[in-house]
Amino acid sequence: MPQPIIFFDYDKITKQVIASGISKKDIYSYFETPYEKVFQDFLWIAQTLLFIAEKQIGISPARVFFNNSFTINAKAGKQNGLYLISINSGLVVQTSLFFSRYADIIEDPMMTFFDKVKGKLPHSIPTLLRDFSVRFTIDHEFAHLYQKRSVDKNWMEMEYSAEKSEEFSIENHVMEFDADFWGVTGVASAIHTYFEGIDDSLKNENTLSALAIIGVTSLLCKFYIGQKTPDRLYFKEHKHPHPLIRAMSICTHLNWILTDNLGQKFHLSWPDIMGNAIFLSDKLLEKNGLKFKGDILLTYVNNLKKIQEYINYLNEQTKQYGNLIINNPPTDKIDISWDKIFKTFNESFDNPDDGDILVGKGSHFAPI
Ligand SMILES: [Zn+2]
Repeated sequence: MPQPIIFFDYDKITKQVIASGISKKDIYSYFETPYEKVFQDFLWIAQTLLFIAEKQIGISPARVFFNNSFTINAKAGKQNGLYLISINSGLVVQTSLFFSRYADIIEDPMMTFFDKVKGKLPHSIPTLLRDFSVRFTIDHEFAHLYQKRSVDKNWMEMEYSAEKSEEFSIENHVMEFDADFWGVTGVASAIHTYFEGIDDSLKNENTLSALAIIGVTSLLCKFYIGQKTPDRLYFKEHKHPHPLIRAMSICTHLNWILTDNLGQKFHLSWPDIMGNAIFLSDKLLEKNGLKFKGDILLTYVNNLKKIQEYINYLNEQTKQYGNLIINNPPTDKIDISWDKIFKTFNESFDNPDDGDILVGKGSHFAPI
C-alpha cells in the first residue's frame, strides 16, 4: 500500500514559534538556499520524532525550528506553553558537510570493514551518519524538554560552551547524562529499525556491525565537529561532563541497548566495532581539517578507571531526580517503526485539531 504523502509546513511552524515569543529575526529560513533539501530532511526527522513523543509522553505541542546562529549547537525550552527545540543552522550545514567528505576516504585500502555490506545498507554511509547524528540531537534535546516540562523559559544548551564560564553543577551533569542516554537510545532505535527493515538474507552480524560502526562514528564525530573541546580532562567542573566522558558513556549505552535487543541472535564484537569506528572517525576528522584533541585515546586509557567511576557516579545520581527520562522511559521506544509513524500520521489526518495545523499533503520527503 502506498504510504501517505506527508510534509511539514515550515511556514506554519515558524508562525507558531513567533507567536510563542521568539523573535522573527532569530529564525532561519532555509528556502531557496543551497542546503534546502538537507534542512527539509532534518525537519522531517526532527518533527516526526517530536510528533511521536507528543503522543507517547504528552510533551505537546512541540515544534522544532532553525535559528540564525552559525555555531554548532542546539537548545531546548518551553515558552508560553509551546515546547521548542531550536537548532542552530550551523549545526545542520556543518554536520552535512562534515559527513559528505566520506567520499574522500571511500577508496582508503584500510577501510575493509564495510566490504561485505557494499551496496546492501538501506542508505549511503554519509546519509546514515547524518541520520544518526540528527536523531541523537533531537532526542537529546527532547530529554531536556521532558526534564524541564513544568518550567517556562529555562533553556538548556546541548554542547559545552567554551565562551561562557560555567560553574559546576551536579544537577546539570546528571541532566546531560540523562539527555545523552535518551539521545543514544534514539540512535539504537534507528539502527534497530534499519536492521529490521532490510531483507532477511542480509540480516547477519556483518550488516548489524556495519550499522553499529556507523552509529558510533556518528556519535564520536558529533563530539568533535567544531566543538571547542577542552584538552584537559575534567570531572566535577562546568555544566556539561567532559566530551570524552560523554562519548564513552554513550558508546557503552549503545552497546548495552543493541546487545539487549539483538545480541541473542547476532554476536556483536564491541571492541572491533569501537576500533573500526575510531579509525573511521579519525579519517573523517582528518579530511575535515580536524583531529582528535590532544592524544585522546591515551587520555582515555590512562584515566579509564576514573572515567568509568564518574559515569557510574552520574548513573547513581540519576535516582535523586524524579524529572529524568531515564527514570520513566516510554516502553516502546526501541520498537518504533516507520509503519507506526505513518499510522500516527494517519490518525492525525483524521483529527483536525492536531496534525492538520502542521502536516499537509502534497510533497514527500523520504526519511533520510
Ligand atoms: Zn544537553
